[in-house]
Amino acid sequence: MNNKYELIYEGKAKKVFSHQDEDKVIIEFKDDATAFNALKKAKFEGKGKLNCLISARIFEHLKQHNIPTHYLELKNGNTMVAQKIKIIPLEIVLRNIAYGSLCKQTTIESGTVLEKPLIDIYLKNDELNDPLITKDRIQLMKILSSRDLDLIIDLTLKINKILKSFFKDIQLRLVDFKLEFGYDFNKNIVLGDEISPDNCRLWDLNQKNDTIVSLDKDRFRNDLGGLIEAYSEINQRINELI
Ligand code: UDP
Repeated sequence: MNNKYELIYEGKAKKVFSHQDEDKVIIEFKDDATAFNALKKAKFEGKGKLNCLISARIFEHLKQHNIPTHYLELKNGNTMVAQKIKIIPLEIVLRNIAYGSLCKQTTIESGTVLEKPLIDIYLKNDELNDPLITKDRIQLMKILSSRDLDLIIDLTLKINKILKSFFKDIQLRLVDFKLEFGYDFNKNIVLGDEISPDNCRLWDLNQKNDTIVSLDKDRFRNDLGGLIEAYSEINQRINELI
């Protein structure tokens, strides 16, 4: 990245740089992959670019469905321009099918189709290991008002409906995903972060039997191999949608 832009934040999978407009930022998607609160780390050449392209297309699709997002435009390769937002320190996970931590922490069997989407909220705090948090604790910590929390939950449910259908059209089942929201310069709540196979579980529907074929970060978490191939496949299916 050109050094006229100042690095203002570096996370596990992205770098955020300043923009000439004070209300915008440039987001660079890195090739790094982490799992289990960064206990497991690796680099996959080309992952950053694929996630940037996939996220951009999904944000565009959500915008067309009136979901406010921070996304503005693709810049080049693995970078996009976005609105500068103040991130709310919560990870909003929506689950359509029971998998991952839900099955480790409850007696719900892996693969159970949930009667209605389940929303689990986690506190975004690496030191505390992103604990599951309650509505009352969110209020107690004064993270956001109950009205704004309801708004975020409502937006997440809407996003789920849009994304489920989007992914179904490219033969993928949306198992679960994680969202982050923030406040823009006008104090409006907008969707931030990314929507990519790094933070969505996506199962291939092009399977003859019931075998689960993950086209997402579980390929890395569970040492399945073929992560770049899976992400490229998703990008290709999205491109064929046009
Ligand atoms: N997720 C994420 N970041 C996290 C934790 C989870 O993007 O720090 C996503 C994950 O990719 C999955 C969903 O949220 O799509 C639910 O993950 P889960 O709580 O099952 O956690 P995991 O099994 O990854 O530990």
